[in-house]
Amino acid sequence: MQGQTRKCIRKSGAEFCLMAQYRHATPTARNHDSMSRIDAHHHFWRIARGDYGWLTPALGTLYCDFEPADLAPHLARHAIDRTIVVQAAPTKAETRYLLETARATPFVAGVVGWVDFAAPGAPGVIDDLRSDPLLVGLRPMVQDIRDDDWLLDPSLAPAFNTLEASRLVFDALVLPRHLSRLLTVIERHPALRVAIDHGAKPFIREARLDPWRAEIRAIASHPHTMCKLSGLVTEATTDWTVAQLRPYVDHLLAAFGPARLIWGSDWPVVNLAGGYDRWFEATLTLLEHLTESEREGILGGNAARLYGCNRIDPLIIVSMHS
Ligand SMILES: [Zn+2]
Repeated sequence: MQGQTRKCIRKSGAEFCLMAQYRHATPTARNHDSMSRIDAHHHFWRIARGDYGWLTPALGTLYCDFEPADLAPHLARHAIDRTIVVQAAPTKAETRYLLETARATPFVAGVVGWVDFAAPGAPGVIDDLRSDPLLVGLRPMVQDIRDDDWLLDPSLAPAFNTLEASRLVFDALVLPRHLSRLLTVIERHPALRVAIDHGAKPFIREARLDPWRAEIRAIASHPHTMCKLSGLVTEATTDWTVAQLRPYVDHLLAAFGPARLIWGSDWPVVNLAGGYDRWFEATLTLLEHLTESEREGILGGNAARLYGCNRIDPLIIVSMHS
């Protein structure tokens, strides 16, 4: 195990330099104007923390530590100045680790953490966590839960009520089979702000659009829902093309409209399917027909609105804690 993580050490001097540039960026360089780009979905992990479960040596290149210095060069290449880091382990400890990492990393504007929604004390835990201004959302790992009806369990209602009454976003890590259940949650909690991760992972590999297409449309008819334009390439064949992704992206655009789609890299998972830069370039091609302001909204403005990260200046947070 040790040997396998050690061989992943590959940070070059140049990458550390880029990271240093972020650390010493001036407030004007990090201006939160309407053109500010946000990667609204990526992860960091440190294998030795040991609570990831799904992350095993079988995942090859993903079975490495991925930390801020590894992400910084990608952000710099695409003029992305802020990010939202998303949980990857179903533990409170990982959420604390991400909040600490975010505090030390000026480009991270928010954390989507994890809480056990079914636990009797969930509302108290959520209230406690949300006292940290860097926490912007919560994500149970619905796709990994054996019971497809878990979202409908009445024991989750207090957690959803607490989210509904707060500014926190519910990040829905769902598969197509969960969409009808998610729709029920949205109907029960009409003020809940929902971000569907990865377009609910449609069947791109099988080139199948139904019944995903109608279920996405039903969810998108609720105004508090948004959808992440992320994670699609890992649902496609390894030799994916833009043409293969286009029907899914076009449908998400038609259903949610350009004001409710938010771009995310899903780095480092995206490394399994061509990598960060290829997905970013494909996104630009897929959104070519939009106006510049619609496209930049998807690449940043919509995420700022959803997660409220216009109110969070990482530089201020860093100085508060240093
Ligand atoms: Zn992810």
